[in-house]
Amino acid sequence: MNMTKQEVDYLILGQGLAGTLLSYRMLRAGLDHRVIDRGHQLASSNVAAGIVNPVTGRRFVKTWKIEGLLNSLSVYEELARLLDVKLLNEITVYRDLSEVSALNQWDMRRSDDAYSPYMDKPQMDLKLAVKVPEIVGPTLQAVQVNLRELISSYRAFLVKKGWLIASDVNIDDAERINEGWRLGGFTARNIIDCTGAAARLSTTWGKLPWRGTKGEVFRFSLGEMPRNMAIKMSYFICPVGLKDEVWLGATNQDHFVHETPSQEGKKRLEEQAAAFEISIPKNHEHASAVRPTVKDRRPLVGEHPDRLGLWICNGFGTKGTSLGPFCTESLLDKILHNRPLDSEIDIANRFTA
Ligand SMILES: Cc1cc2nc3c(=O)[nH]c(=O)nc-3n(C[C@H](O)[C@H](O)[C@H](O)COP(=O)(O)OP(=O)(O)OC[C@H]3O[C@@H](n4cnc5c(N)ncnc54)[C@H](O)[C@@H]3O)c2cc1C
Repeated sequence: MNMTKQEVDYLILGQGLAGTLLSYRMLRAGLDHRVIDRGHQLASSNVAAGIVNPVTGRRFVKTWKIEGLLNSLSVYEELARLLDVKLLNEITVYRDLSEVSALNQWDMRRSDDAYSPYMDKPQMDLKLAVKVPEIVGPTLQAVQVNLRELISSYRAFLVKKGWLIASDVNIDDAERINEGWRLGGFTARNIIDCTGAAARLSTTWGKLPWRGTKGEVFRFSLGEMPRNMAIKMSYFICPVGLKDEVWLGATNQDHFVHETPSQEGKKRLEEQAAAFEISIPKNHEHASAVRPTVKDRRPLVGEHPDRLGLWICNGFGTKGTSLGPFCTESLLDKILHNRPLDSEIDIANRFTA
């Protein structure tokens, strides 16, 4: 068994989606690193459906950089092979077009060449075990990534290598030493913060333009739900996991008292279940997490301007599954080859006073 070294080149804090993808890229590049994670409690990646949807929102707007992001999803296939698990599912996302304004908006977007590869003809006859809106718009090229499976399998992989340290760590405690930083029993040239929404509470990163929105979901078995489609009314119903599990969610709260599941969230999810005409089994899971959302809706990637050697790869918001591969690749290119970051994701000049 490998013994955990106390001196490393790179120390990654957090092993949600960001920490997992970054660690995998470092592994592939042969870089010496360790990952510290407190165990995924309330981690966004553990709660998310993992949907990559090329057109989102009420106005069916194309996801930022979607063409490039879709190409970079192949990293999940590599990880699936490494971990010997199924991670990627191609799905069709059906959007509710029963309101005339939604139908008109769909038709208007579809007539645009930039949108037509992602949006199919409205459909009227979709019959399923759950109630489906009368008219639906099928979104093309959507996928669902089993994030829970990914982070738990990759954690086991790191544990086996002796590279995962199960501990709670605070970037504000990082102490400057000659060649880098000391933190959590390690000395590292570079520390990369991938702690998701938790980072917004630190002094080091607290002045970045965080929002932090809480989401609550139900997960339960629903054998009759096809595995290749998701339906969106107010919330989604989507297959997740490896067997007959589905995911219903998610709520979206900017203001919340605690990060754990609430009665208010439960009520809203039950209302949505009623709209889908499904009864929720007693043994369902009710989960919640705070999404690492950002006011300007762009990821937060780069090096701290005053504390050189402290980096962040975060702020994936509601779109971690599609943004994660691009952001982790960009960060590694910056660290290793000093390749400039896309100015929209770079944290330089995004700290508030
Ligand atoms: C309800 C909900 C639904 C979502 N649905 C989707 C979706 O369908 N598609 C999509 O693309 N995105 C979705 N998202 C967003 C997505 O989950 C995130 O963008 C992404 O998972 C964030 O990953 P992350 O690694 O940055 O953060 P996280 O997943 O939160 O990971 C942070 C990690 O850091 C660790 N950590 C935190 N603090 C510490 C500490 N002090 N010490 C040690 N370890 C620490 C945690 O244990 C955790 O493992 C959803 C989010 C929510 C909440």
